[in-house]
Amino acid sequence: MADIVKTLALIAHDGKKADMVAFALQYRDRLMNYRLVATATTGRLLEEKCNLQVQRMLSGPHGGDAQIAAMVAEGQIEAVFFFIDPLTSQPHDPDINSLLRICNVHNVPLATNPATAAYLVSTKAV
Ligand code: PGA
Repeated sequence: MADIVKTLALIAHDGKKADMVAFALQYRDRLMNYRLVATATTGRLLEEKCNLQVQRMLSGPHGGDAQIAAMVAEGQIEAVFFFIDPLTSQPHDPDINSLLRICNVHNVPLATNPATAAYLVSTKAV
């Protein structure tokens, strides 16, 4: 029986987008084994700079985080890699907190920095 392809969600705040691209380039071979969803701008960067295929949701400030939270709640997401910029305030803070909360409600692995994401991917934990 064929393995079911797992879905990863990738999101990066503007101050962390370069880190996301660097992470995705480093682990591109692993990421290619997953179905990828991302917020709009993060997804476009992953497509353009890393040549990954990504399902793009809305941009985070326009509801993309909320869309991904709904997917997590519905059991569609294996893990969320959400590179948060802790030094910049975000207009969509309520949506961000909602996504973090939903991951914790449903016990979905959540990496909020590249070191944790690299650990999850390189150890094949997800
Ligand atoms: P973006 O959204 O990928 O569209 O920039 C990310 C966010 O800020 O939540």
